Amino acid sequence: MSDRFFVNRFEDYNSIKYGPELLDLIHKDVAIRLVKDYVAKILAGSKKSNYKLRDDLYVGEAGIAFMFWKLSRSDDFKGLFPCLEHASWYIKRAKEISAAKRKDDESRAAFLCGNAGISAVSAVISHDLDKRNSVSQDIMDFRKGHVVCMSNSYTDDEVLVGRAGYLSGAYWLNQILPFKPISNNTIEDICEILMKRGRTYSRSRNLSFPLMYEYHGSDYLGAAHGLCSILHMLLESPWFAVNDTKEQDYSDIKASVDYFLGIQDENGNFPTRLLNSNKNLIHWCHGCSGAIYMLAKAYLVFKEEKYLAGCRKCAESIWREGLLRKGPGICHGISGNGYAFLLMFRLTGENVYLYRAGKFMEFLDSDIFVKAARTPDRPLSLYEGMAGAVCFIVDLLSPATSHFPFMDVFYRKYCE
Ligand SMILES: [Zn+2]
Repeated sequence: MSDRFFVNRFEDYNSIKYGPELLDLIHKDVAIRLVKDYVAKILAGSKKSNYKLRDDLYVGEAGIAFMFWKLSRSDDFKGLFPCLEHASWYIKRAKEISAAKRKDDESRAAFLCGNAGISAVSAVISHDLDKRNSVSQDIMDFRKGHVVCMSNSYTDDEVLVGRAGYLSGAYWLNQILPFKPISNNTIEDICEILMKRGRTYSRSRNLSFPLMYEYHGSDYLGAAHGLCSILHMLLESPWFAVNDTKEQDYSDIKASVDYFLGIQDENGNFPTRLLNSNKNLIHWCHGCSGAIYMLAKAYLVFKEEKYLAGCRKCAESIWREGLLRKGPGICHGISGNGYAFLLMFRLTGENVYLYRAGKFMEFLDSDIFVKAARTPDRPLSLYEGMAGAVCFIVDLLSPATSHFPFMDVFYRKYCE
């Protein structure tokens, strides 16, 4: 038995056994009970004296605020809790913790682990509460990250604290707020500097593909710190919509995507780094559960079947080895892996993927998971814990619009 994952004992989807009715594939009663249980634990646990306070989206109060905001937009759940009231309370707490910290310019650009993420979530909550002045202030705060992203002294490019994360926040704000607050020019400026930095680093390492990045001295490939989510954010840019991507930019992005697809192993997974990668992790942060978003976006942009085939291989790997022992979260947990099936359901319309997502949700409710899964460092949080599982379950009941937080590959997120 692996120490990384539970053996998947669910039988796979059988089209004869299950009819065409999608809702038959999901146990809605289990979904609602799990969400109520997790929300009660988050509300109680986050007010205990031994609770470790942090401000950010990744494992802090902004992440819990995001979860309540997500619940507020769900027809299935919005009546169960005073969602926006809770969202407002948690984002205020995030801002207070952030304000008390030492000022750090780079945090203005950091999305999942910094102030840009807090400002963005605050803006959408303020929007839904119709607090227009607060929305303007939050957007102004978010825009402060642009200057940091354009500075050569800012060395982070990935999704947790770097330029790709800032872009994911910019795209998300444009997706949620009807007035699309982040201009195409801003997005394209940051994409340009990402291209330049990727080319420079790739050349310095004599690599066979044009764009590569490092994070703290490592050539990471996975979604959290690595190449695949940076390429994903480049593929989301307005360049690909108006077909005015410069030939060189287009071909360098595509060549790097193709290199990435080429290192997918026979099981469907990817190494965690270019060199010295000895782990076979099936997480959103490292491995195929995060890489699948970039491949799906490449399929939608380039319309070549090889990318969809790569996505299908990722999904098979996740079905076999994705019931992770690390807990319920979305970064390196079962909900993050379940999200990959929701992506595949939207991409293909095939019921097998919705069924599999439903089984991953059911596993969260199983005795073996409750007794034997590990408890993450931040058990209530968005990326490691229960708040992420709540988002996954909310999306499971609305699969047509479901998406991993800040990584919706289907929606056009820039000005026309
Ligand atoms: Zn992780």
